[in-house]
Amino acid sequence: MRALTWHGTNDVRVDTHPDPEIINPRDTIIKITSTAICGSDLHLYDGVIPGMKSGDILGHEFMGEVVETGPKSTLKKGQRVVVPFTISCGQCFFCQQQQYSACDNSNPVEKQDASEMLYGHPMSGIFGYSHLTGGYAGGQAEYVRVPFSDVGPIVVPDHLTDDQVLFLSDILPTGWMAADNAEIQPGDTVAVWGAGPVGLFAVQSAVLMGAAQVICIDHHPHRLELAQKFGAKIINFEETHVREALMEMTGGIGPDAVIDAVGMEAHGFTPDNVLDVVKQKIAPGADRGHALRQAILAVRKGGRVSVPGVYGGMLDKWPLGAMMEKGITIKTGQTHVQKYIKDLLRRIEEGEIDTTFLISHHLSLEDAPTGYRNFHDKQNEWTKVVLRP
Ligand code: NAD
Ligand code: ZN
Repeated sequence: MRALTWHGTNDVRVDTHPDPEIINPRDTIIKITSTAICGSDLHLYDGVIPGMKSGDILGHEFMGEVVETGPKSTLKKGQRVVVPFTISCGQCFFCQQQQYSACDNSNPVEKQDASEMLYGHPMSGIFGYSHLTGGYAGGQAEYVRVPFSDVGPIVVPDHLTDDQVLFLSDILPTGWMAADNAEIQPGDTVAVWGAGPVGLFAVQSAVLMGAAQVICIDHHPHRLELAQKFGAKIINFEETHVREALMEMTGGIGPDAVIDAVGMEAHGFTPDNVLDVVKQKIAPGADRGHALRQAILAVRKGGRVSVPGVYGGMLDKWPLGAMMEKGITIKTGQTHVQKYIKDLLRRIEEGEIDTTFLISHHLSLEDAPTGYRNFHDKQNEWTKVVLRP
C-alpha cells in the first residue's frame, strides 16, 4: 500500500509499505477513505517530539471501511467507521473512568526511559505518533490496523459525508473537551488562544455551552474571520496588547476561563533547542508570544485554565506566583475521544454542529507532502487538509 512516512525534520514522503495484517484478536483492518493532517502532526514534522524513526507512517485522524476483522472484533466488513486517535483497551483502571487517553494497556512498547523520565509514566497509545506512544502505524495511508477495535471506532450513518464526521476522530472532541475542561457556565467570558482547527472547535463548543462572550486570539486574519463567524470577538496579537485588551473587554476582571489551543508552537521549541528546553537549560518562549503564560496572567482570580495544546518535555518559567495567588484551576490532557464521540455524532446529525466549514483543501495521498508544507507554513487559507487515499 501507499503511505505517508516521516524521514526527518520537515521531510515526509509517500512510500510503498506492506499492507497491515491482523495481529491480535480484537484488531480490525480499515481501508481509509479520508484522513486529515493535524496541528499535532506538525510537532513531528518540526522534529520537536522525540521517538520517531525514519519510515514511520503518520496520521491519527482517519475514517474508512472495515475490510478485515479479528475474531474478537465487534465490527463487520463493509461498515463505515471513524476511529479515535487515542488507542484504549476499555478495561483498565483509567478506561473504566472514561480517561481513555490515559489507557494503561495501549502502549505495547517496553516501558521507555524517555517517556518515564519526562512524564513519570509510559505514554498511552496514539496512532502514528512516535515510538513513545506505542510506535503504531498511522492512518495517512491506504490501510491501517486498528487495535482494540471493539472500543474505539464508531459506526457512522451513510447519509453523513466523510467531511461531516471525519473530525470526530480528534479535533472536534478536542475542542469540545477543551471547553468542557474550562467548566463554562452560562454568561461566562471565555478567551481562546489559537484559531487553528482545535481553537475554532473550542470557540464553537464554548458558544454552544452558553458562554456569553468568546474572544479568540491569533494573528492569521483568515483564521480569525472563521472564529468571528461563530460569534467570537477577535484579537490579533501582533496588533494589540492581548492582556490589556482582555481586561478592557471584561470590565477589568479578566476572562472567567481561558483555553490554550496553541501548544508548543508559541514557545520557541525548535529541533535544535528541544533537548535544552527539556533539560530546562533555557527558558522556552522567553522572546515569543507564550500563549499559556499570557492565558494564566489574563484569567480572572479563581478562573479556569484549559490546555488542549500539546507540550512535550518540561516547560519551565510558569507564573506559579500568579497561579497560586489567583487560585486558578488548570485542566489539560490528550482528549478522551471515546467519552465524547457519540454525543458529538448526534449533534452533527441534528445539525447543531457543522465541521465542514474548516476544510480548505482536499488532496490525494500522493500530494500529502504539499499539504504538510502549506499547513505548516500557515499559508493563507490552508486551515485544514483532508487527504483522500
Ligand atoms: P495549528 O497549528 O493549525 O493552530 C495553532 C494556531 O495557534 C495557529 O493558527 C497559530 O497562528 C496560533 N498561534 C501561534 N502562536 C500564538 C500565540 N502566541 N497566541 C495566539 N495564537 C497563536 O494547530 P491545531 O490543529 O489547531 O492544534 C492546536 C494545538 O492543539 C496543537 O498543539 C496540537 O498539537 C494540539 N492538539 C491537542 C490535542 C489533544 O488531545 N489535547 C488534539 C489535537 C491537537
Ligand atoms: Zn490530531
